Amino acid sequence: MSHPEEFHARLTIFVTIVAGEKNIINRYRHQRAELEYHTAYIEEFVDDICSSFGGYSDFAQVKTRFSRGSYYERTKIIEPNEYDYLPVLSLTDDVAVEVCDVEEDCKLAGQGYKRVKILPGQLQKHFKNLRRNVLCKQNDGVYLKTEIRYSLVEELDSYLKRNHSQNYLGRKNHNEDPAYEIGQFSLHDLVHGPSVCIRVGGPLCTTDIDLCFCIQKSPGCVLVPAFVSSAKCNVVLNENHWTESVLQLQKETGIELPLSDGQHKHVFLTLKFISHLYDKIYWFLFGSCTPDGLISSYAYKLLMQHHSHRQKGPDYNIGKWLEDIVYFIFGFTRKEGDGRDVFRAYGRGDDVYLPDVHFHERKVKVINGDANKGELITLLWIYKHVEHNDNTVWWKRLLDDDFPNNVDKPVHNGLIETECVDKDGLDSLLRSVEYVMTIRSGKPERPPECIWRHMNGAITRVIIDDQKPLDIF
Ligand SMILES: [Zn+2]
Repeated sequence: MSHPEEFHARLTIFVTIVAGEKNIINRYRHQRAELEYHTAYIEEFVDDICSSFGGYSDFAQVKTRFSRGSYYERTKIIEPNEYDYLPVLSLTDDVAVEVCDVEEDCKLAGQGYKRVKILPGQLQKHFKNLRRNVLCKQNDGVYLKTEIRYSLVEELDSYLKRNHSQNYLGRKNHNEDPAYEIGQFSLHDLVHGPSVCIRVGGPLCTTDIDLCFCIQKSPGCVLVPAFVSSAKCNVVLNENHWTESVLQLQKETGIELPLSDGQHKHVFLTLKFISHLYDKIYWFLFGSCTPDGLISSYAYKLLMQHHSHRQKGPDYNIGKWLEDIVYFIFGFTRKEGDGRDVFRAYGRGDDVYLPDVHFHERKVKVINGDANKGELITLLWIYKHVEHNDNTVWWKRLLDDDFPNNVDKPVHNGLIETECVDKDGLDSLLRSVEYVMTIRSGKPERPPECIWRHMNGAITRVIIDDQKPLDIF
């Protein structure tokens, strides 16, 4: 068995290498000017679209935009292919727009949810003239529905068709993976979260832009469309709930989150890299995008934050921090009597919630057991193989941009029992992901499992135990 200190040191080295190699700041250190030019190109593209679209459609006028997300927080990995913005709608300043709390009897009251009231007058009339019904009437007034995000996409689409026909490719499914010529762009045919998604061919790479149109009535905070299940809100018209989103979070280093220290950022970058690896593995195995998406950056930040209080001790290090997060995550599926090297894969109903950083009453789903089980097995596999193997030769292949194409496609023989240090070491990772994603539970008395045999003699077992009660929510 490896000594804990030795292991934490090795894990720390692993985290440091991943963060150092994958952070775009380092990857583009010899192309600094190109990276800045790419970003300037994207920003100009966004500003052009926002100002010209606002001239075409009154309610889409934008007064300012905030930048947010990993590029601006300096936590972007691999390549500069994602940029996030919050364009603030000018109607924010209209005297007919008032922000008020949700209904008193709403279960979401006090958790940072608001309604946007539109007083009678010109603006209300204007909204009534839209093709979509974006207003809803309640006892005490008329409210703006979050449905307005669909209106924005539709109006933007017809504007672009008329005015940018030479470069605009129309609405496309962005879950497919084409590269665009510079200047070509499309709108995502699905409205993703509260945002309008644009894909554009940029100078360095094809880039996805997330435009989250919002309303701002107070400094430091904007309102974005919320998604509320009818179980959480007593009011049938729950599509009038907006979420408060605190801008402070989106400052360069994420003040509220333990990311200001460079070392702490390394753990976050490693988690994001593992997420990216899983995405590539899924594509390699199944030839499509992950159907249910990945664990969000925000969820990883909350998971990190949840463990940051333990960062104060004298013997703490980033390897241990990653370990804490892994054991915290797999603690939820653990059963009494499971040893240190026995784990249970996530499955349907194994969801994990954590309190939001700013609105403690609000519970954020950080893990969706069914959707994220493949990503979590990837995290566990990497963690456990760093722990139990002095051999680090396989790190290089794992971190190679070509991975997993540098591994033979796994032969599925129904049994997942692997030796990690031989030349097929990484084959074990691919087979484990495939197994977890495709296996159905067997008899409860003998559930299927992955067995990973390690160089130091340790054996990790991952039981795929789907015999749990279904999601009760
Ligand atoms: Zn409500």
